[in-house]
Amino acid sequence: AKSQGRGNFQFFSPSMNAATHERLLLESRLWQALEQNEFELYLQAQVELEGGGVIGAEALLRWHHPELGMVGPDRFIPIAEESGLILPLGDWVLRRAVERLQLWRDGGLGHLRLAVNLSARQCHGSALLPQLDRLLAESGINPALLELEITESAAMQDPEHSRKLLRELRSRGLKVAIDDFGTGYSSLSYLKLFELDRIKIDRGFVKDIETDPNDAVIVAATIALAHSLGLAVVAEGVETAAQREFLRSKGCEEAQGYLFARPVPVEQFEALARAGMAG
Ligand code: C2E
Ligand code: CA
Ligand code: CA
Ligand code: CA
Repeated sequence: AKSQGRGNFQFFSPSMNAATHERLLLESRLWQALEQNEFELYLQAQVELEGGGVIGAEALLRWHHPELGMVGPDRFIPIAEESGLILPLGDWVLRRAVERLQLWRDGGLGHLRLAVNLSARQCHGSALLPQLDRLLAESGINPALLELEITESAAMQDPEHSRKLLRELRSRGLKVAIDDFGTGYSSLSYLKLFELDRIKIDRGFVKDIETDPNDAVIVAATIALAHSLGLAVVAEGVETAAQREFLRSKGCEEAQGYLFARPVPVEQFEALARAGMAG
């Protein structure tokens, strides 16, 4: 059964399997979690491949669940998406991100960009643009430092709506990136439909570039294609120096991955950024 939100009573029975049980445990507390301040944004550095300097970060949600401990977004975002909590939670993430950009501007880190993930529901609802307008007006931040990541699959749920949304976002000076590039859709024709700044090559392709010649070819071709369309490229999930060298040799500008830095609490990321280098 889907959650009806707060106050919803859940029944646990011995016949339930562990996965269902965990799901109910997460779902029953999810709404409360926002009020109780149990969410935190971790930041993962994005670095320039030429030179290695930190140019910004991606904000990644974490949930400090009172019984389960730290819960990663892969476990609760799908539930939040189904139950509708993703809308207030997405608002919270955007507010926090803009606040952080304000602090950076006033605290000597004004060059850093911050990327935020948008869910499918946020993209296809009507609240996002008014909310962003309000946040931009209140904060006075440079919109070019806020990047919105939209997964290929979310964008392709309604390509015409997405095309308009991306145009609206970019007309405000915000940056737009296509996330998980290459995983969701078989045709690349949408790239010319959408106004974009950047594509993020999915970790699934980066992982095996040293061992799988097909993945190496796909990644090299993706970088070339992006460049020919005037788009920058971020490679996700870079874990080895060999992957970094391959990407650099193919002209990929930016990367993110455990080789440079894991997602960490904000203060830790800021220390890293002040030191100038990741990892
Ligand atoms: P994503 O947007 O593709 O984020 C990248 C994921 O890859 C993150 O997982 C990050 O910790 C992980 N990662 C980064 N570098 C490496 C690496 O070198 N090796 C490996 N193995 N993994 C790496 P995380 O933090 O668990 O987030 C999972 C997904 O949850 C994200 O995938 C994103 O789709 C979603 N998510 C996270 N935060 C938010 C949010 O605020 N809103 C929404 N709508 N979704 C979010
Ligand atoms: Ca992302
Ligand atoms: Ca991704
Ligand atoms: Ca991914």
